[in-house]
Amino acid sequence: MLRCHWSGHFAAVWAEREGVIHVDRFAPSPTGLLHLGHAYSALIGHAMAEAAGGRYLLRMEDLDRGRVRPEYYAAIEADLTWLGVRWHGDVLWQSQRLGLYAAALERLEAQGLVYRCACTRRDIAEAVSAPQESRSIGPDGLVYPGTCRGRALPPGPDRAHRLDMRAAVTALGGARLRRLTFTEAGPGPAGETGEIPLDLDALIEGTGDIVLARRDGTPAYHLAVVVDDAAQGITHITRGEDLFAATPIHRLLQALLGLPTPRYHHHRLIRDEAGRRLAKRDDARALATLRAEGASPDDIRRMVGLG
Ligand code: GLU
Repeated sequence: MLRCHWSGHFAAVWAEREGVIHVDRFAPSPTGLLHLGHAYSALIGHAMAEAAGGRYLLRMEDLDRGRVRPEYYAAIEADLTWLGVRWHGDVLWQSQRLGLYAAALERLEAQGLVYRCACTRRDIAEAVSAPQESRSIGPDGLVYPGTCRGRALPPGPDRAHRLDMRAAVTALGGARLRRLTFTEAGPGPAGETGEIPLDLDALIEGTGDIVLARRDGTPAYHLAVVVDDAAQGITHITRGEDLFAATPIHRLLQALLGLPTPRYHHHRLIRDEAGRRLAKRDDARALATLRAEGASPDDIRRMVGLG
């Protein structure tokens, strides 16, 4: 039943996308106002999609119910429209697609690659501070030391679901996984470009058992993003280089779920005068603030180096 829903859904999308060779998306989280960094990302992604005769889609990554604010959905659309960034079709809201992420999680569970985890942030911090544990930081922060792996916890409240990374790598053929790559148009943060091979040791040791669904049941970003990129028929992904380190996770999940892999273009981040990357709390650089102060869309282009 689930399987039918899964493949049926993607088949419909692929049929619809036939003939369109370039589909990119802008995927903001409605947890704040768009700032100059978002403008840069949307302007270049949109321009490349237009130049290729393709499509640019808008997806609200609104799974984090604690941080999402209703007013930001409209604010994001208004800012993009003002900037001249147009999107094709309806806006997709991840919060309305929970069944699809649950189906993806079930597919990974059926492969024996998922375990339940009862650890809180504090448990993890304490576990990694034990003398025998190495403490490393991965794309999602502290690398999980694997406390609940092998415990076979029964279902219950406050259980996260984690991917057993070593088992996932093994399921994909272990050493043969070295042939898994993604294409980076970049250059990435360290000048990476072309076919980037996945580094197995880095995934197992440096990334570890990532969360697929949080303790409150919310699907994690990594799972939702690969499901939706496939479901929306995305062929090209333009996003900030802060997500370069997460891309091997996405490539791995695509392989496990049998989903196609888009081409990636990770771009430089827009920084403030002190060299810090812009964050949602940087209201001074919010597009809405700049617009209210009289900036035009051309001014924004110049401010991000596109003028
Ligand atoms: N929702 C993510 C963000 O706002 C972007 C995810 C992506 O482009 O893959 O940073």
